[in-house]
Formats: sequence, C-alpha cells, structure tokens
Amino acid sequence: MSDDKPPRKRMVRPPSGGTESGRATPARLKTAWKRTPSQQAWLNRQINDPFAAQARAHGYRSRAAYKLTEIDDRFHFLKRGARVIDLGLAPGGWTQVAIERGVTDIAGVDLLPVEPLPPAHILQMDFTDPACGLELIRLLGGTPDLVMSDMAPNTVGHRQTDHLRIVGLIEAAADFAIQVLKPGGAFLAKAFQGGETAEVIGLLKRHFAEVKTVKPKASRSDSSELYLVATGFKGR
Ligand code: SAM
Repeated sequence: MSDDKPPRKRMVRPPSGGTESGRATPARLKTAWKRTPSQQAWLNRQINDPFAAQARAHGYRSRAAYKLTEIDDRFHFLKRGARVIDLGLAPGGWTQVAIERGVTDIAGVDLLPVEPLPPAHILQMDFTDPACGLELIRLLGGTPDLVMSDMAPNTVGHRQTDHLRIVGLIEAAADFAIQVLKPGGAFLAKAFQGGETAEVIGLLKRHFAEVKTVKPKASRSDSSELYLVATGFKGR
C-alpha cells in the first residue's frame, strides 16, 4: 500500500500511538467518528508530516514527489528531450516533477484513474497485462530513456506474501525496462529490503553499468522501502 494514499477500509490496523521523542505534540483530527483506526492513523500522520504539508503547499499530488526530486538531484535523468515511462503513477506526483523538470514525452500507467496531467499520456490498466508495455511505447511514440516505477501492490498484512508481491512487480518492471530502454538509459524502482530484492539487483547488474540503492529523506524511516537506481543500460 502506498504511503501517499489513505488505506482501504478492509486494511484495519490499530493506530501505532505515542509520539517520537523530541517532537511537538502532533495535531489530531477531531472529526474521527466515521473513520477506521487505520484511516485515522493515516490522516494524523499526513497532517503532521512536513513532506505532505510541503506537497500540498506546492500543488504536488503526493509527497512521493520529494522522493523523485531528491533522487533526480543526484542522478539527473529528468531532462528536456528525455522520454520517460512512469509505472504506477497515481496520483501523479512523479509525473508532475518530470514535467516540471522539462520532460515533455512521458507516458504512465496505473490501475487507478488519474486526473489529466498534460502533456503526459495516461493509461488506466494493469501493468502486468501483457498488452500494457506495447501500449505505453505506442503512447510515448518511441523507446524510453528512463523507466521509473513507484508501483506498490496493496498489502495483505503477511510480511513474506507482501514482499513477494512487490518483488513480482519490480521484476516485471525491470524485465520491461531491459526490453525497451535505449542504450545508456536508466531504470528507477521502488523496492523493499528483503532477500528477493538482492536477486533483482543481480539481474540489474548484468544489464546496467551501475546499480545503487537509495533511501530518500521523504521515504519514511520506519518503512523498509528503498529505491533501486540502475544507470548506463548496456543494450540488448
Ligand atoms: N509515484 C506516485 C506519485 O508520485 O504520485 C505514487 C505511486 S503509489 C506509491 C503506487 C501506485 O502503484 C498505486 O497508485 C497503485 O495503484 C499502483 N499499482 C500497483 N500495482 C499496479 C499494477 N499492477 N499496474 C499499475 N499500477 C499499479
């Protein structure tokens, strides 16, 4: 489940409770009577989260925008003239950052509907549908310089199952990137610490000149989320 969206009703988890030492007493939402505990916890976290507040003030659709901003400040792959594919783009923070940085050729996909973000081409589809990759390339009008994936499946609450589901998505994104990237291109993907992620890193190392793991500041410190950044695609 994304850090950036309210949890669905069926994912009932008790609120974590307590405050981090040294922090001011967090604000709490008073109209909580219709919310599940996990929705309330998500809301409390949002209203006390500096990245979420910054995102709202800046007009970004998600705090995830700051993760991409920090990664791109280091690797510089979002440039005017670059062709970009954004996998799991909803609600659109990463695509907003790409457009802000001069990218005009961008196509993205998500299971969820996304409000238009011109000039981005937006597809509502399951990325694992075999027809999706070709459709993205068709919308983009050519092969990409960057494939970025922030896809995250809904969690079921069983750690190993959740890990395998996210790894399945990363592998699908990595296979796609290896099939479609231009030589010299880059791949960026959300991953989670855990055994199978090492296998994906191994796969990427065979196809890219350099592979790094990055934990941006906007990625919550209590989450095992990290990002894989593979640069210098060696070509097919
Ligand atoms: N990067 C986005 C942003 O900046 O706003 C946030 C992405 S959110 C963390 C993860 C997204 O992955 C969700 O919107 C979810 O619907 C999408 N997703 C998960 N599985 C998917 C799949 N199989 N195909 C397409 N999108 C998927």
